[in-house]
Amino acid sequence: MRLLLVEDDRLLGRGLRTGLSQRGFAVDWTETAEDAEAALETTAYDAVVLDLGLPGMDGLTLLRRRRAARDATPILVLTARDTVDDRVAGLDAGGDDYLVKPFALAELQARLRALVRRRAGEAAPTLRSGRIELDPAARTVRLDGAPVALSGREFSVLHDLMLHAGRIVSRGQLEDAVYGWGDEVGSNAIEVHVHNLRRKLGTDAVQTVRGSGYLVPAAPKAPVAP
Ligand code: CA
Repeated sequence: MRLLLVEDDRLLGRGLRTGLSQRGFAVDWTETAEDAEAALETTAYDAVVLDLGLPGMDGLTLLRRRRAARDATPILVLTARDTVDDRVAGLDAGGDDYLVKPFALAELQARLRALVRRRAGEAAPTLRSGRIELDPAARTVRLDGAPVALSGREFSVLHDLMLHAGRIVSRGQLEDAVYGWGDEVGSNAIEVHVHNLRRKLGTDAVQTVRGSGYLVPAAPKAPVAP
């Protein structure tokens, strides 16, 4: 999952980037709303973590501008003060969720997973495709109920494909989802991850759509009880 972090407090920003990266998020970090806006113009993010108190343009203004520009990227607002007015302003301006500083990293991660899941139209905390079940919180994958060990990047590729199950995801989209700024991306990196996923999960786990990208089959809808 590709994440944009907007935080001018360097100590907090560094800590969040490290903590979130360790949990498999590809994190781009900017210290100003102006830089964040430029990044949002060019990159598709799964979610934004937005501090409200920023030098220059403040977070609330950026939030309103993105919504006015019809940018629907989920945005989680960080506020320094726990006042009702602050929280209401953040949500009314188009924020999807908020956290009051100081907060626990584990809670931020859980809220981000919930945001991304809801955006994908998925209410259940685990994702399914065929014989595969993926748990984003525990970062585990099971095949027919048996655990399968994946590398961090393999997990991220599979997670992004399963969030878009039944739809084609291009190689570029997968690179965006898995790698942040400054990460070295080999030209065939995604192919290698997909190759490994097929080796571990079965050749039909990830399908190649020639010239377009990859897809995992959507789980069949549960039958409706009469
Ligand atoms: Ca700040």
